[in-house]
Amino acid sequence: MMRNIETLTPAASTTGLLGPYVLVFDVINDEVVDLRPGAYALGYTDNNGRFVVTFVGSSSADLRSRLKQHIGTARQFKFRHFATDRAAFEKECELFHQFWPAGNFLHPERPKNSNWACPRCRLPEKRNEA
Ligand SMILES: [Zn+2]
Repeated sequence: MMRNIETLTPAASTTGLLGPYVLVFDVINDEVVDLRPGAYALGYTDNNGRFVVTFVGSSSADLRSRLKQHIGTARQFKFRHFATDRAAFEKECELFHQFWPAGNFLHPERPKNSNWACPRCRLPEKRNEA
């Protein structure tokens, strides 16, 4: 199975995000709260009804505006708001490692003036130097 395909089960989707929703202006305004941090995945639903992730990202302050910048680049989106910008960043990292989306060439960059670590990369950095 390709890694960028989300496996849907009756219980929950593997992204842990809401959606999918159609990536258009009106839907974004209806579903996404203004001026809140959040993480998102762009993609489409394949013939088997699975959501294929093509890009993941996060916004530290305004998820709604960020999603509008992506209109035209994907058919659908999923998202979730987070209470803090740090939680949104960590979710973006987890989505990146989980799906390796075709549109993400590089690992998510931590915000300037932060010392946040990716939750998935944190452990492998401590290499055994025996
Ligand atoms: Zn990482």
